[in-house]
Amino acid sequence: MFSRTISYLRLSLTDRCNLRCVYCMPENKKGGLQMLPHEELLSYEELLRIVRLVVGMGMNKIRLTGGEPLVRKGVMDFISSLSQIIGLDEIRLTTNGVLLHEKAKGLYDAGIRKLNISLDTMQPERFKKITGADLFDQVWKGIKTAGELGFDVKLNVVAMKGVNDDEFVDFARLALSSPYQVRFIEFMPVGNDSTWKEASFISSTDLQTLIATLGTLDPLLGRRMDGPARVFSLKTEDGLQGKVGFISPISHHFCDTCNRLRLTSAGRLRACLLHDREADLKALVRGGATDAEICGLIRQTILDKPKGHTLAEDQLNCSGQMSRIGG
Ligand code: SAM
Ligand code: SF4
Repeated sequence: MFSRTISYLRLSLTDRCNLRCVYCMPENKKGGLQMLPHEELLSYEELLRIVRLVVGMGMNKIRLTGGEPLVRKGVMDFISSLSQIIGLDEIRLTTNGVLLHEKAKGLYDAGIRKLNISLDTMQPERFKKITGADLFDQVWKGIKTAGELGFDVKLNVVAMKGVNDDEFVDFARLALSSPYQVRFIEFMPVGNDSTWKEASFISSTDLQTLIATLGTLDPLLGRRMDGPARVFSLKTEDGLQGKVGFISPISHHFCDTCNRLRLTSAGRLRACLLHDREADLKALVRGGATDAEICGLIRQTILDKPKGHTLAEDQLNCSGQMSRIGG
């Protein structure tokens, strides 16, 4: 395991989504978008059994993602059941924010306190271009509602040259004028026909240089809970302060400190987002396996976790659909 402590499970609750982001589920994808039939998703009962087992093995954090986790029917009751699991210290959620205004209070009551909300632009027309839906105002309302309810809000911005690079400084200003942490994610070539092009890639180092034109960036060290993000405090000369993060799967491998395991919406256990090796946990669970056998497969997947990925060397190992794997 290369001395990494695996404490964090990411669950992709569904591969379905109410948006069609160009870099993730493009509407015009070759061969159309293939969705899993509902019976191929792990049921909530199956998921709860797996979560109880991983918590018994020492994991204490879960992130719900997808696709869009909030579109799956029954998700609020599922979250309430998760929050009853003793030893599970934190349930986090990654969402596109479309249903947030309507569900934020329920999520808070169900025990969630930390939300990552994806927002690549603050321009309604551009939002429509990137996501295929004219829903910027609705998402923005959801973000504000979440902030007012007291959620710890992080905004995830996929950095794409020629698409939203003229807004990076505005996003950093938002981090200065609001309680939200803004995190820039390097654009990843996930999926065989992704829209990723080298020309649209911008590295975290370049982003950092750009953001540093606003003020001083000081690294906040020892923030393991921030996962792969390198987080900085940003301070301006006129006394404004905020937090910005950089997630750099391409330019700075963080494999050596990666503490996560993923369960895809197809019920396959995956040790690395960017490495296609998967173990069929669903087949085991549905085949009547004992708890010990399920724990055995989980343990083996952790032991087999790749030491690193090779995207920076241009060898694409990830052909899966981001929405199915759970970004
Ligand atoms: N639907 C939810 C959302 O958008 O927040 C959760 C799932 S989405 C797959 C999780 C995260 O992956 C989002 O922040 C999204 O921007 C990011 N993502 C998807 N495709 C990506 C890509 N090719 N490169 C970088 N980030 C990507
Ligand atoms: Fe949906 Fe999230 Fe993928 Fe956008 S990034 S299409 S919101 S799953």
